[in-house]
Amino acid sequence: MKKQILLIHTGGTISMHVNEESGAVVPDEINPLTKEHEKLERFAHITEIEAFNLPSPHMTPEHMLKLRNIIQQQLKQTYYDGVVITHGTDTLEETAYFLDLTLNTRIPIILTGAMRSSNVLGSDGIYNLVAAIRVASEEKAYGQGVLVVMNDEIHAAANVTKTSTSNVATFQSPQYGPIGLITLTTIHFHHSPVMREYVDLENLNKRVAMLKTYAGMDPDIFEAIRQAKYDGIVIEGLGQGNVPPSLVPSIQALIDDNIPIVIVSRCFNGIAQGVYGYTGGGKMLEDLGAIYTTGINGQKARLKLLVALNQTDPNLKLEEFFHNN
Ligand code: ASP
Repeated sequence: MKKQILLIHTGGTISMHVNEESGAVVPDEINPLTKEHEKLERFAHITEIEAFNLPSPHMTPEHMLKLRNIIQQQLKQTYYDGVVITHGTDTLEETAYFLDLTLNTRIPIILTGAMRSSNVLGSDGIYNLVAAIRVASEEKAYGQGVLVVMNDEIHAAANVTKTSTSNVATFQSPQYGPIGLITLTTIHFHHSPVMREYVDLENLNKRVAMLKTYAGMDPDIFEAIRQAKYDGIVIEGLGQGNVPPSLVPSIQALIDDNIPIVIVSRCFNGIAQGVYGYTGGGKMLEDLGAIYTTGINGQKARLKLLVALNQTDPNLKLEEFFHNN
């Protein structure tokens, strides 16, 4: 029997075309995906909603929260076997992870997109969309959290990242790999995310900044962030999570102001943790009160901190929440 799938469009290249005169990739007034309904109905009963029509660099956490609310409301009103979301690829991993943290459901939630717009040779939009609908209709996708389906692979929201600016094989999960593969006729899951986290939130009124460290970095950027009164900061540290010594007094001042500092590594493989005891070393930063987390990149750690600072559970302990990964 065909499954009931809720299909939500948010924009991105999958909903764009190349303008022949200018050569630029631009959004369509009418989303080209909405003309493909019949093709998609071969795979499932599709209920289609256009939430936004945004290039994904225009996406904000407020849009992500709105999308979470639309999904929650739709699932309350109507029975669906799965949800598919079309999205621009630039920030797709962020929306996927935000939804993973803030949706409390076992039904498959799948994000997909395209690297080539609707009217170019080798366009991958409809292909990826059909694959996403097939995965959303699959029993084995239940309880796996929010997933990203692109280029015949299934990735967990926490691990996946965009690795290439233009290649169709852009989505990878460094260190972890995809959790499943898709062929023309079959869908294979070969491992599952070990844990799921859920936190509820109603509003987003805190701000979190993210800084990538580099050799010889001056502390003035940290000072500017302190003056701007951000509520939290994620630092992409060097190696196992170290920073240049010049930054230590500013980090100390932020911690003294009760601004949480979360550290990930700017390396995309390995574990970030407090190991080194020299000035700016991870052990020293941990002793100052910085929180280390691993398994998620900087942009996802930023969303996790944003969600944590805005969530409604008074018992949530920030350190434990970040050590869960
Ligand atoms: N810049 C586009 C966007 O993220 C790229 C894409 O959709 O793949 O909306």
